[in-house]
Amino acid sequence: MTSPVVRFAPSPTGKLHVGNVRTALINWLFAKGQGGRFILRVDDTDTERSTQEYEDQIRADLKWLGLVWDDSFNQSHRFEKYDAAAAKLREMGLLYACYETADELDRKRKIALSRGRPPVYDRSALNLTDEEKAKLEAEGRKPHWRFKLSGDRVEWTDLVRGPQSIDTSSVSDPVLIREDGSYLYTLPSVVDDVEAGITHVVRGEDHVTNSGAQIEIFKALGGSAPDMAHTPLLVDAEGGAFSKRLGSLSMDTLEARGILPMAILSLLAKLGTSDNIEVREDLGMLAKEFDFSKIGRAPAKFDEKDLLSLNAVLVHDLSFSAVRDDLERIAPDAANEAFWLAVRENCETVHDAKPFADIAYGSIKSVIDDEDADFIAEAQKRLPEGELTSESWKAWTSELKEATGRKGKGLFMPLRKALTGQEHGPDMAVLFPLIGREVAARRLSRA
Ligand code: GLU
Repeated sequence: MTSPVVRFAPSPTGKLHVGNVRTALINWLFAKGQGGRFILRVDDTDTERSTQEYEDQIRADLKWLGLVWDDSFNQSHRFEKYDAAAAKLREMGLLYACYETADELDRKRKIALSRGRPPVYDRSALNLTDEEKAKLEAEGRKPHWRFKLSGDRVEWTDLVRGPQSIDTSSVSDPVLIREDGSYLYTLPSVVDDVEAGITHVVRGEDHVTNSGAQIEIFKALGGSAPDMAHTPLLVDAEGGAFSKRLGSLSMDTLEARGILPMAILSLLAKLGTSDNIEVREDLGMLAKEFDFSKIGRAPAKFDEKDLLSLNAVLVHDLSFSAVRDDLERIAPDAANEAFWLAVRENCETVHDAKPFADIAYGSIKSVIDDEDADFIAEAQKRLPEGELTSESWKAWTSELKEATGRKGKGLFMPLRKALTGQEHGPDMAVLFPLIGREVAARRLSRA
C-alpha cells in the first residue's frame, strides 16, 4: 500500500471541541502510523460565517495538541477551481439550475410525505425550457444548482462500517451551489480531495449519505473516490446527543481548566474502540496502536470523568519545572518544588493545588469551638518538635488519641477547623508539613 494522504477539514465557524478533535486525531494517527501525510484543509467557503479568529484558534489548538500538519490550504483561495469543476459538470448535464424557493421546496416535501412518498426532490427543474428559465430570472429569481445523481446504487467498503450501499434514487439531488453563488462543501471537498491526492476520507458518520453523492462526483470529474472511513459520533455519558455541551469542551476551555493534551488525545484515541482507555505518553504510541478495525459501530461515550482520571495520572508525574509557570499564575506563594511534590498526588489538574496553597500560605481564620478549647490547647502542647514531615500528622494525631481518648471525627475535625478554618478540604497529612510548625502553633492558639 502507498503511504496514506488524509485531511482534516474543519470549518472556521466555531472552536474545536472533543468531537472534531477526535476526527482530526483519527486522521493523524492513521496517516502517521504508516508514514503518511496529514493535511489541514480550512473549509471556509462560507465567507459569511467563517472568521480569521476561529481559523487562528483552530491552528493554535492543533499545535497545542501536537497534531501538526504537513500542508495546509484554505478553500476560499480556490474558487476558480470550483468554478471550473462546476462548468465541467454543467457541460456534462450533471449540474442543473433550479428555481424553487425554500418555501416551495418545503411544500413539495410535505405533499410527498402526506402521500406516503419519501421527500425526495422531484427534479421538476429538469423540465424547464430556456424560455421558462428566462422568465423566472426576469422575475428576479436566481438559480441554485443541483447535481444529478445517477439513480444507481453507490457501494464502497467502509473501513469502519464495512460494506455500504446507498441507493441514490432515494436521496435528493444535492444542491452544490446556492442561489447567491456560494458553494456548499460538497463539490469543493471533492475537487480538493482529487487535487491533494487524498487516499482516505476519514470523518464522522453524519457524512455517510454525502459520501454516496460525492463518490458520484469523484467519478464525474474523472477520478476514482478515495477509501472512506466513517466513525460513530460521540455521545455524552448517558448516551444522549451531545452538541449542546460541546462549548464547554472546546480545546481552549479544557486547556484553561488544566487538562493536558495527552489526556485528551489518549481518551479520544481509545474511546469507542476495543482497546482499554489508558493514558499514553505520546502520539507516536497512540499511532502504533491505532487500527480502524478496533473502532466499533456503537456511538462512543464521552465522559468527562474519564478525562479527569487520565489527566490525574499525568499530573501525578509532572515535575515542578513542568508546572512552575502555572503555579506562579494560580498560586504564586506556592511556586516551589517542595510544595508541588507534596501535593501533586492529590491533584487531578494543577488547579487542584490552589486550595492547598491557600491553606498553607494564605491567611486563614482558625475556628476553635468552646467545647474543643482544652483539646486544642493539648494539641498545641504536643505539636511535634522540629520540622514537620509527611509522617508528622499520623504521629501527632495518634499521640493525641492516646492522651485524650478522642477518636474519629471528634479527634480530627477540631484539628482541621483550627488549622484550616474549614470543615472540609485537602488531605491533612499533606497540608500539615506545608503549614509548618510555626504557623500551626499560631493557628492552634486562641489568640
Ligand atoms: N467541513 C466539513 C465538516 O466539518 C468537512 C467534512 C469532511 O471531512 O469531508 O463537516
